[in-house]
Amino acid sequence: MALFVFIFGLIIGSFVNVLIYRIPRGESIVVPGSYCTSCSHSLKWYDNIPILSYVMLKGKCRYCREKISLQYPIVEALNGILYILLYYTHGPTLEFLFLALISSMLIAIAGTDITAQVVPDGLVIAVFVLSSIEKLIQHYIFHESVDIKGSILGALFGGALFTVISLISKGGMGGGDITLISSLGFVLGLEKEILAVFLSFIIGAVSSLFLVGTKAKSMKDYIPFGPFIILSFFITIFFGDRILAWYLGLLAVERGFGICALW
Ligand SMILES: [Zn+2]
Repeated sequence: MALFVFIFGLIIGSFVNVLIYRIPRGESIVVPGSYCTSCSHSLKWYDNIPILSYVMLKGKCRYCREKISLQYPIVEALNGILYILLYYTHGPTLEFLFLALISSMLIAIAGTDITAQVVPDGLVIAVFVLSSIEKLIQHYIFHESVDIKGSILGALFGGALFTVISLISKGGMGGGDITLISSLGFVLGLEKEILAVFLSFIIGAVSSLFLVGTKAKSMKDYIPFGPFIILSFFITIFFGDRILAWYLGLLAVERGFGICALW
């Protein structure tokens, strides 16, 4: 089953590459089928097997011998690995399936933000819609309790905070970042959204210092914030419960000491 999940992840990852390339260019994501981005030659199915084709073709197009970007196998592998991790942490559940699809949308958003500085509205809406469908199925078909209030508060909290930051920083935070953090707040719920926002600030600050420090970027360069939000989302999905438990534990210990001191 794990192997099947991984292969499914690779195939969806291949589609994520299509999204990253075509959405910023305004091309249809359905037609035409895959083609070489250098010579436009349409690709046969055997040119298009995730990772394997890249390895067998030694990273070059079969028709024009132009180099194929490393982005393709990296995105495919990343998507496959995320699916496996989600499968191991969530089991064969509805939550796993929806989180996996949402994760693919997020990898696509990170990709378009890095390569074209766009956070496509369509992908952000897809995250919101996928999360809504999952909650509806959980509630109406599986009769699970769904914390819809927490989701709405999470979306409002992230959206409002980033709107304020965007106004203060005069465009340092883009409109796409606002809708992205808001839709992730809907997926995560309020508590985990607060954690994800906090993590995104830390990761954003440390990464920006690193990029400027190593001269990979200058102070004037635009550094997209979307990928930091998305990385924070994944950390929250996998470690959020543990981080929150640890933090609440710390608070409890402190309060405990407080009471001791009073005595
Ligand atoms: Zn070619």
